[in-house]
Amino acid sequence: MQYVAGRAGAILRIDLQAVRDNYRLLSKMLGTAKCGAAVKADAYGLGVVEISRVLFEEGCRHFFVAHLEEAIVLRPHLSLDAAIYVMHGSPVGYEAEFLEHRCIPVLNSAQQISAWRELAASRQQQLPAIVQLDTGMSRMGLSTQEVNDWVANPELSSGIDIQFLMSHLSCAEDQSHPMNRSQLHTFQALRSRLPTCGASFANSSGIFLGTDFHFDLARPGAALYGVAPVAGQPNPLKAVAHLQGRIIQTRDIPADTGVGYGLTWRSQKPSRIATVAVGYADGWMRSLSNRGVAEIAGKTVPMVGNVSMDTITLDVSQIDAAHLQPGALVDLISATNTVDQVAAKANTIGYEILTSLGLRYQREYSDSSTTISHQTNA
Ligand SMILES: *Cc1c(COP(=O)(O)O)cnc(C)c1O
Repeated sequence: MQYVAGRAGAILRIDLQAVRDNYRLLSKMLGTAKCGAAVKADAYGLGVVEISRVLFEEGCRHFFVAHLEEAIVLRPHLSLDAAIYVMHGSPVGYEAEFLEHRCIPVLNSAQQISAWRELAASRQQQLPAIVQLDTGMSRMGLSTQEVNDWVANPELSSGIDIQFLMSHLSCAEDQSHPMNRSQLHTFQALRSRLPTCGASFANSSGIFLGTDFHFDLARPGAALYGVAPVAGQPNPLKAVAHLQGRIIQTRDIPADTGVGYGLTWRSQKPSRIATVAVGYADGWMRSLSNRGVAEIAGKTVPMVGNVSMDTITLDVSQIDAAHLQPGALVDLISATNTVDQVAAKANTIGYEILTSLGLRYQREYSDSSTTISHQTNA
């Protein structure tokens, strides 16, 4: 199936120049520390190949994905002087594929370290890795006990060329959260007991916590894609994703008429309803039912009724009929109705809005205000 301009139900515009500008801003904030990039989950739903290409052009040489499969997809598109790190580490038994596909595991447990050490021994080769330490999130990385064992038995990592010790912040978007400093101190204390090597600590929000948090390599994702890094503060990043949905039809309904599944909205007066070809199957979350908004010709209109799988319904009673013809586009994510604002209405975070973006959109990439490619999804 191809989703083509004009006939696609929605258009997702991805501004690669904004990604470049965001990368430059973060790099500048980082000073001498390097700026890597989290491009997991298809670069947060925006297209890992296109996004990674412009980041590489901007000087990025450290790319982070979650799964080995993601690294295998990305590898042929990136020059070998760019490292691709797999944050989950190796699936059990698949360590050798990291060598075949020239990607580097993040080792998260004594068991992953041991499997990597054994591969190094069998190949009689030093093998590169990042080692992750848990500093308080209790999700990934060596526990304090595992670090203690490693300090007592340094040969546990023999044959492993540790490029960075890494950890991850749990509360970084809340700048006043005491956990930020607490994790920082734990990280510093653990590092001081381990072999000297580079360190990687900050995600997007971590970069905004100040230079103490920068170390040698940062791993921003969300900020590159325009998501606000600091809760409750103006967002200095540029919006990357712009979504427009297409009107299928409009209808005039009398007062006291229900709309959509469950008839959860009823008109109080005669109203005009527009049906738009985007639904929860496209990542337009059902939690936006009777809460979300759209924009038509610069005016905000409310989403009324439940979100369906393939459609939403808008109360467009205040909009001039000239803007409501079948095929007309309405703005769903824009500079004035941002990913973060949509997320707040959907009771989630901007990350989930982006990574949920659907596969039925026509995707258009622009770079330096030139539209450079049309990607269709098969
Ligand atoms: C996803 C992720 C990142 C990127 O986080 P953002 O908040 O999107 O900047 C960095 N490090 C780890 C370990 C991650 O899982």
